[in-house]
Amino acid sequence: MISVTSSDFLEMQIENFIISSEKVAHVQIGNNAEHTLLVLTKTGYSAVPVLDSKYRLKGLVSTQMITDAILGLNHIEYERLPDLKVDLVMQETVPTIHIQEKFKKGLDLLINHPFLCVVDDEDTFLGILTRRVVLKQLKKHIYQNKE
Ligand code: AMP
Repeated sequence: MISVTSSDFLEMQIENFIISSEKVAHVQIGNNAEHTLLVLTKTGYSAVPVLDSKYRLKGLVSTQMITDAILGLNHIEYERLPDLKVDLVMQETVPTIHIQEKFKKGLDLLINHPFLCVVDDEDTFLGILTRRVVLKQLKKHIYQNKE
């Protein structure tokens, strides 16, 4: 049975839980695959957002997308990295959530994605909502309401 406090919890704004854009590693649309691979390797993140100069969300890029793009018949063609633009490699369909959405919506979407990109009406990138942050909040809530 969902108690009143649980439904209040699910109705909370996701705004309170996001990692804001200035703390999120990202690449820019004009960057090449070499720079992108460097960002992914150094940060250790599996994927990062691709933004334009106005901070609008354009895509998502992962190490796997890059290696897949430079996979030759017999070896990985690393020499292609400097000339390969990130927009040719990235995935354009990005799991996103609007900044004014509620926790419940985030929870639903995060079942299938490790993180969601948070945007406003103009598609401006405001940050990310991660599965880790949401699970932590959920755990806190469950333990608080045990008795
Ligand atoms: P986490 O839930 O913290 O393990 O994060 C899951 C995924 O979200 C990571 O693998 C990254 O793709 C992305 N992510 C988390 N934090 C950041 C960050 N500060 N900058 C860029 N991507 C991030």
